[in-house]
Amino acid sequence: MSTSPSTPSTGAGSPCIGSASSAAVSAGLKFKTELCRNFELSGSCPFANRCQFAHGPEELRGRPDRHWLYKTEPCRAFHGEGLCRYGGRCHFLH
Ligand SMILES: [Zn+2]
Ligand SMILES: [Zn+2]
Repeated sequence: MSTSPSTPSTGAGSPCIGSASSAAVSAGLKFKTELCRNFELSGSCPFANRCQFAHGPEELRGRPDRHWLYKTEPCRAFHGEGLCRYGGRCHFLH
């Protein structure tokens, strides 16, 4: 039995590198930061919970009216003085 290793087929069916899932990357960045058009137009979406867009304002992330450091840094007033006048609306972590 002659051993014939699979000859490397150069150029045969080489995948097109460059357009490799660039859409997936950009989709990840926009995850739930925009409203789903399917949901907006028809009130339903075939992707359901796996949809990368928000199905309503409550699912929206990165609201433009919220600081980008929203609740990611400790509140100096709350942890320093023990009191923050902003309370639950404070943009910092209590
Ligand atoms: Zn959707
Ligand atoms: Zn605070």
